[in-house]
Amino acid sequence: MRRRRNVKIVATLGPASRDPAMIKRLFEAGADVFRINMSHTDHATLASYVANIRALEAEIDRPIGILADLQGPKLRIGAMAGGGVDLETGSSVRIDLDPAPGDAHHLFLPHREVFAVLKEGGQLLIDDGRLRLRIEKASSDSVMARVEVGGRLTDRKGVNVPDALLPIAALSAKDRADLDRALECGVDWIALSFVQRPEDVAEARKIVAGRAGVLSKIEKPAALDRLDEIIELSDAVMVARGDLGVELPIEQVPVRQKQITRAARAAGKPVVVATQMLESMITSPMPTRAEVSDVATAVFDGADAVMLSAESASGKYPVEAVEMMDRVARSIEGDAQYRMVMDAQRAAPEATTADAITAASAQVAQTLKAAAIVCWTSSGSTALRAARERPSSPIIVLTPVASTGRRLAIAWGLHCVVTEDAHDFEDMVERACQFAFREGFASVNQRIVVTAGVPLRTPGATNLLRVAFVGKKAGSFVG
Ligand code: PEP
Repeated sequence: MRRRRNVKIVATLGPASRDPAMIKRLFEAGADVFRINMSHTDHATLASYVANIRALEAEIDRPIGILADLQGPKLRIGAMAGGGVDLETGSSVRIDLDPAPGDAHHLFLPHREVFAVLKEGGQLLIDDGRLRLRIEKASSDSVMARVEVGGRLTDRKGVNVPDALLPIAALSAKDRADLDRALECGVDWIALSFVQRPEDVAEARKIVAGRAGVLSKIEKPAALDRLDEIIELSDAVMVARGDLGVELPIEQVPVRQKQITRAARAAGKPVVVATQMLESMITSPMPTRAEVSDVATAVFDGADAVMLSAESASGKYPVEAVEMMDRVARSIEGDAQYRMVMDAQRAAPEATTADAITAASAQVAQTLKAAAIVCWTSSGSTALRAARERPSSPIIVLTPVASTGRRLAIAWGLHCVVTEDAHDFEDMVERACQFAFREGFASVNQRIVVTAGVPLRTPGATNLLRVAFVGKKAGSFVG
């Protein structure tokens, strides 16, 4: 099955999309990667999601990406008296380590290490920023805070501390257990929440040890301060606009989205734009004009993927939401302005043989109006460099490594096919023609551009470019 767009769609699974038939419908509607949110998923459910996706993959013979999104070291307030209490705007509240249930004057914050960085004048945002407190007095184990925006506060709501670099481990005990199970299940991507520093990514990378790609969610101001270093250590990033919009003034989110997207694209790392893209479709079969425009902006920014959260996990219209993203993406990408924007934003190749060949393949394909660029890769690195070019011709990735095909499902424009290794370069060219034909990209007598590396199976060894005609033989091979 060939997609008619370059930007990929990540769909979060949940109660609305749990059963195998629904997962298949979401895939058919356009989902390329399924996200499993470990904040809301137990290990048995995780294993059943992965098994169902792998069964679908075998049935349709297409690689599908699976992303396990770790909850991360999220701070939470303790329990509240009676389950919930109203905090009055203008009132004063003490926050400390006393585990007594919270009330209108006292809140329990069960994170001792955090008090060391809470400073006078800093903000405490509770329940996705719905309640806002300003610290007036801080000590090593308590703070006094003024309620600037009050409201009802119920048990164990999340707390954001935007002004501080938190002295907390990148992975909680729950994250470590979830990570181990996700890797055992064979997911393709691990998403790290609340990344603050490059060291957080390095720590996770050590545990993941190449068994999955590591995607850093950018949702903390501290991460923005060291964005390039974080991108360098990550295999992909996400503009996690939910928490980013709590931690930063919300009007800064669009600017940061552009900054993160541009930086990731320049580095050739996939970037996912996430959260509230089609939020109203949780309850409505049609999105708002503004939501459609938001998806369009991410597509015009050249994001690798756009993501659905509650829309597909717990909404009433999960399939319609994926279909809508697909339609918006195809509409934008079909417009001449999109190509102009992609060409204008093209990043210069780096001084490597692989980049030189890849950039040349995009240029040759454009000049010849080639039906496709076919890229042989084992690690996937050359395919990502090809995607970085955002070429006008479709990119077919041929790989003998199933995990590579699955991982690349998140990247812009890559149509991955898992196939046995080629014997030599001639075999690579011939099979490139056959797959370009079989997958519906090229017809007989059309040209394709093939890139590959010799010796075979050496990551990053791309050093050959060939223009080939799809001959009758390619057609008869598949016919
Ligand atoms: C976000 O904050 O935008 C995000 C994707 O993370 P989560 O949904 O896990 O809060």
